[in-house]
Amino acid sequence: MTTDARLSSLTSSAYQQALEVIASVEPRIAEATRQELVDQRGSLKLIASENYASPAVLLTMGTWFSDKYAEGTVGHRFYAGCQNVDTVEALAAEHARELFGAPYAYAQPHSGIDANLVAYWSILAHRVESPALQRLGAKNVNELTEADWESLRGELGNQRLLGMSLDAGGHLTHGFRPNISGKMFHQQQYGTDPETGLLDYDVVRAKAKEFKPLVLVAGYSAYPRRVNFATMREIADEVGATLMVDMAHFAGLVAGKVFTGDEDPVPHAHVVTTTTHKSLRGPRGGLVLAQEDYAPEVDRGCPMVLGGPLSHVMAAKAVALAEARQPEFRTYAQQVADNAKSLADGFLSRGARLVTGGTDNHIVLLDVSGFGLTGRQAESALLEAGVVTNRNSVPQDPNGAWYTSGIRLGTPALTTRGFGHDEFDRVAELMVHVLQNTQPGTTKDGKASKASYVLGDGVADKVRAASAEMLDKHPLYPGLDLA
Ligand code: PLP
Repeated sequence: MTTDARLSSLTSSAYQQALEVIASVEPRIAEATRQELVDQRGSLKLIASENYASPAVLLTMGTWFSDKYAEGTVGHRFYAGCQNVDTVEALAAEHARELFGAPYAYAQPHSGIDANLVAYWSILAHRVESPALQRLGAKNVNELTEADWESLRGELGNQRLLGMSLDAGGHLTHGFRPNISGKMFHQQQYGTDPETGLLDYDVVRAKAKEFKPLVLVAGYSAYPRRVNFATMREIADEVGATLMVDMAHFAGLVAGKVFTGDEDPVPHAHVVTTTTHKSLRGPRGGLVLAQEDYAPEVDRGCPMVLGGPLSHVMAAKAVALAEARQPEFRTYAQQVADNAKSLADGFLSRGARLVTGGTDNHIVLLDVSGFGLTGRQAESALLEAGVVTNRNSVPQDPNGAWYTSGIRLGTPALTTRGFGHDEFDRVAELMVHVLQNTQPGTTKDGKASKASYVLGDGVADKVRAASAEMLDKHPLYPGLDLA
């Protein structure tokens, strides 16, 4: 993030003026926007999927590109007047290809879920639809008879997907029933070793051999360890599966070359999806990267499952990806991983239990059952003390996905603010203090509650004051003054 005084002052006046314009129409939105900055500045943001995008990225989103329709792809639009959107989308894709070393990049997905939908339907088009069309002698689905189309629909909707289970750290788009991925595919899941909490590739291989998925999904939302994508590709090849890696969480560590070789998914996967707003530190959005042979299908994301692209967000993706190509981003990414270790060590040295016993990415998964709390109680008590986290299942969680027994923590946001080893150790100390001083509450009729909690007197104030000392040393958007 820039600390350049002139840019800070320009940013400051840009936002002061923007809020004045917004307030002239709906002052409550201007006020909520101002308050959001105050709140983000004043709390320890440890949500693993969040970050702070640069002012350049944020400002890029607030323009008239939002007003433009541009269905289609670069140079091939269904609307007139898309010459500037073409510039934007081509640049976003170029930066993504260069940054990740990918043969092809698609910058249109509006979010991570959309990127996964594009990927799944592209894989189905590549692996199922195209061979069926060839077999039937048709150029596209419009040439099929109703009977042909019925049978193709049956084939498309009956494929198998193997992904990581939610409680082991997978994402709901990896075949979880309530999500469309769990409805459109026959799905099975692989978990982690019940003793170590680690991914066991032999178990994944055995499951894949038995289930023979069309799509093998790797990637996670809450697994605090690195994945060997070369091994995942070997498994996919052994069973004829397409390897799709969802790197939404750790794209920043791939971009910053913390994950290289077997840990870099891009050379190993057929298709890679990501969000742009987590460790990558861009605007809210998605990307799909693909090997050449999958590119033609991914390129049809619109109209396959997407409508008009968000051109203002694609522009901001281009700016964020340009930032991530700078040498400073590598320093940032390494610091994110180093800080996660400091945070994990801070917990372990104070007797707390971590899933897998530590971390080697940006995530720390704290098991709060040792404090006699559910994840829900821990999350609420920490929030009262100004520490923003989210509750998360741990493997084989006895409290289920709503109350949970874990708290997921991530270092990307506070690392952007400039926190280092000592601060993260102090964060662990403060969190342990809160959790040690929180008791489970009771329901109205006096029964044990999994939600309510009682935080010791004065704990929240003490922790807030200690956090403020660190937060003041590392201001968010330095120089940006909205008073
Ligand atoms: N994939 C993974 C691994 C994620 O962690 C997430 C979000 O948490 C997503 C996809 C979905 O991203 P979005 O919220 O942008 O749709």
